[in-house]
Amino acid sequence: MSPPTDSMPSPAREERRAAPWPAYVTTSIAWHAGAAGAALAAPEAWPWAIGAIAANHVVLTAGGLWPRSRWLGSNWTRLPDRAAARREFALTIDDGPDPEVTPAVLDLLDRERARATFFCIAEHARAHPALCREIVARGHSVQNHSERHPHTFSLLGPKAIEREIGAAQHALADVTGELPRFFRAPAGLRNPFLAPVLQRLDLQLVSWTRRGFDTVRRDPAAMLARLANRLRAGDILLAHDGHAARSDAGVPLVVAVLPALLERARSLALTPVTLPMAARDDGALQASE
Ligand SMILES: [Zn+2]
Repeated sequence: MSPPTDSMPSPAREERRAAPWPAYVTTSIAWHAGAAGAALAAPEAWPWAIGAIAANHVVLTAGGLWPRSRWLGSNWTRLPDRAAARREFALTIDDGPDPEVTPAVLDLLDRERARATFFCIAEHARAHPALCREIVARGHSVQNHSERHPHTFSLLGPKAIEREIGAAQHALADVTGELPRFFRAPAGLRNPFLAPVLQRLDLQLVSWTRRGFDTVRRDPAAMLARLANRLRAGDILLAHDGHAARSDAGVPLVVAVLPALLERARSLALTPVTLPMAARDDGALQASE
């Protein structure tokens, strides 16, 4: 299996290629055309036309830099309603696999019979393929968090975005034997080119309901409060096994916080499930388990 390329036309791909862009993006294209037309028809109005285009770019950029926005296309910030009705929530763990932190996370999850989704960086998965397979063997899900996790992701053009995500699809499927169905953007930052690429690769974008900020802050109590205090059915929580900050005692934050977080979930009769499990009866996204 290889990532889709332009040299591989097929009727199905042509159909997906013709799929509409998100409404906000098509509106923006029309907005540009309208402003250009107005400036041509009434040259004295050109400062207004430039201002209208600049305002549109500010809004598009803001939509991409706000990880939970839906302006640039479909974006899960919560699980589907049916999963919430079953009192499910999702624990998502990013930037691994990490040979020091991931095994400890897997042991804690096993102890609580909890399932989680690991948004892996494909480069790390290739460096630690056995650990990546271990994640899946222990009942969890590995999904796509890009090939290299570039900090410039939201500045990439459509070809570079497709290369970054397509290469990760290929690598993760090779390592785990399962093709990812979900994508999370590095740091959650995006641009208008992302949605059509995800549509072509058949990937659903996922952000989060709340995140622990556990790559930058070192306080387990603050992380637990952020994730657990308002926990409810349908939540998608974000923590990190890769790039994980350590507490003053030297413990990765996700390891320090998981036991109390899962205890809180149990007291609320909530079940931690993987994203494919949460989507199992979602007609639009029949994810394989
Ligand atoms: Zn990340």
